[in-house]
Amino acid sequence: MGSIALRSVEKWFGQTQVIKGIDLDIGDGEFVIFVGPSGCGKSTLLRMIAGLEDISRGTLTLDGRDVTAEPPSKRGLAMVFQSYALYPHMDVRANMGFSLKTAGRSKAEVAAKVDAAAKALRLQPFLDRRPKELSGGQRQRVAIGRSIVRDPVAFLFDEPLSNLDAALRVEMRYEIAKLHQTLKSTMIYVTHDQVEAMTLADRIVVLQGGVIEQVGSPKELYERPGNLFVAQFIGSPK
Ligand code: ADP
Ligand code: MG
Repeated sequence: MGSIALRSVEKWFGQTQVIKGIDLDIGDGEFVIFVGPSGCGKSTLLRMIAGLEDISRGTLTLDGRDVTAEPPSKRGLAMVFQSYALYPHMDVRANMGFSLKTAGRSKAEVAAKVDAAAKALRLQPFLDRRPKELSGGQRQRVAIGRSIVRDPVAFLFDEPLSNLDAALRVEMRYEIAKLHQTLKSTMIYVTHDQVEAMTLADRIVVLQGGVIEQVGSPKELYERPGNLFVAQFIGSPK
């Protein structure tokens, strides 16, 4: 569960092509990071995988199933939004259980899933608090917890740490790495932070202008960057 394949994927906004034929295979349980300069198409590509943007041309398969035209809710993926998307009037428990409750799951099931997610994210002491009574890092963990309860086959993160301060970013990077070890789910993570990419990724996908410049492990990209752009972006001494 959780393997993802893109074939000749393109995105056009009107006459403007922003994703220019992407081929990519992501394995079950892999932690893949999209990096590249602002405007290169990272968010658009992630949103197409999530189903929040239509795919103009090409195909997307999940575990071998063509989901190119499937709505987001049928894909079994979780897009993790930034923590400011929490419901301010609900406590942590209600925030995390909300989507299951509205999907009609039983109280017992909602409670069990929320407890398991809270444990994985070490949020048990905060279940009765409201978002405003939490630190930035705790809020971000609740935002992640909201998607864990739905047992997604893969997690999609779009710069989840970009509005946290430097110390919190380091703490959350560690939390996310641990979460990946615990859940063993596929994770696709967008960032423009090289350190985040180098420390979290199994493989890094370097994008520029809607095309893939290079794909490889952090070590491969650092030691054998394919061109000057990748070398400069990764910070390797080429
Ligand atoms: P990144 O996340 O790498 O910064 P984006 O995927 O957000 O880049 O954007 C890629 C390109 O697509 C940019 O040039 C952006 O202006 C354009 N773009 C993104 N969303 C839209 C949209 N809804 N309509 C028109 N152009 C868009
Ligand atoms: Mg973006």
